[in-house]
Amino acid sequence: MNIPSDFIQDLPAREERLDFASATGIFTTISPDNLMLIGAAADRMRQARFGLRTTYVHNLQINPTNVCVRGCDFCGFAVLPGKAGGYSIPEHEIMATVAAANPSEVHIVGGLSHDWKFTRALALVKSLRQHFPALYIKSFTAVEMDWFAKTEKRPIEDILDAFTQAGLNAMPGGGAEMFSERIRAQHFRQKLSADDWLAVHEAAHRQGIPSNATMLYGMGETMAERITHLFRLRDLQDKTGGFVAFIPLAMQYGVNDSRELSPLENLHVVAMSRLLLDNVPHIKAYWPMIGIETAAALSFGADDLDGTLGLEKIAHASGAKTPERMAAEEMARVIRLAGFDPVERDGAYQAIDTRKCA
Ligand code: SF4
Repeated sequence: MNIPSDFIQDLPAREERLDFASATGIFTTISPDNLMLIGAAADRMRQARFGLRTTYVHNLQINPTNVCVRGCDFCGFAVLPGKAGGYSIPEHEIMATVAAANPSEVHIVGGLSHDWKFTRALALVKSLRQHFPALYIKSFTAVEMDWFAKTEKRPIEDILDAFTQAGLNAMPGGGAEMFSERIRAQHFRQKLSADDWLAVHEAAHRQGIPSNATMLYGMGETMAERITHLFRLRDLQDKTGGFVAFIPLAMQYGVNDSRELSPLENLHVVAMSRLLLDNVPHIKAYWPMIGIETAAALSFGADDLDGTLGLEKIAHASGAKTPERMAAEEMARVIRLAGFDPVERDGAYQAIDTRKCA
C-alpha cells in the first residue's frame, strides 16, 4: 500500500487511529526520507503532549541473580543453574548499595532461580520499603511474577497482591520480547507466551499496579510482527490504561558479535512506537541499548531518557557498548544539547527539582 506523505504529516491531527493496513504501508520501508517524515509526525505528537520537557530519573538497576532456568538464546546475562559464572547478591549488599546510591527509583529484575523464589523476593521488597520509605520500587517482570505464581502454585492475583502489600509501586516491562510465536519458537520457546505476558499485566493493572511495556526487536522479525506487537499493547491499554511507558529494546548480539542495529532503524522504532501507541503516555529512548548519541535524538518521539542506572548488567552482558551508568548531570547535558528541556523526575514521572537542570 502506497501511503501519501501528506497522510503521514497529518497523523498527529487525525482523529482516526491508524489501522493495521495503514501502519504496514507507512512503516514497512525504512529509509532516510521515510524516517524524516514519520519522525516529524512523531515529534509533533510528543510535543503536543509534553512540549520540550524531557525526563530522566536517578535510578538504580538491581539484578539480584543471573541464574535462570530458561535458556533464551539471545540472553548474554543468564547462566543455567549449576553452571560456572552464576551469582546471587546477598540482601545486605543490595541494601548497602541502595543506601550509598540514594536513588529515587530501583528497577529490580533478574533470572528465574530456585535460590530467588517468591518468599525471598517478597522479603527484599518489604525490607526496601521499610528502610527507604520514599523509594519508588519497580520490581519483577511478568516473567518473574509468573515464575513466582507457578513455583508457589498460587494464582497470579495472590502474588501481585502480596507484592503490593509489601510495598511495590510498579512492574517493569521486560520479558515481552517479540509477540510472535514464530520468533518465540526460534529464540525463547521456554519463556512466557505473548498471551500469558499480557494476562499478567492485565491482572496487575486491574489490581492498580502500573507497569511498563517493552519490545525486543532485531531478532529477524518482520515489520508486520513488530506492528502486531504494538497493536496488542495498544489493545490492552485501551482496556486497562495501566501502561505508563513503552521502551523499545534494541537487540544486543553478544560481546563477540560485531553486528548492531543502525541508528536509522532504532529511530524508526521510536517514531513508530509514538505514532502507534497513542494511548501510552511515555516513550523512552533507552540509551544503554541504542547509544547515547541516538537516544539524544529526542525529536523522533521519545520524551524520556530512562535513568542513570548504576550497575546495569543485562544489556551489558549481552554486548551493549554504552557505559554502565550515566551521571544525572550528563543526562541533563545530553537532553539540553538535543534542544529539549531536562527535568529530573521520580518513579511516578513527577518533577523532582527542575532547578538542577536550569
Ligand atoms: S531473558 Fe530472562 S528468562 Fe530468558 S534466560 Fe535471560 S534472564 Fe532467563
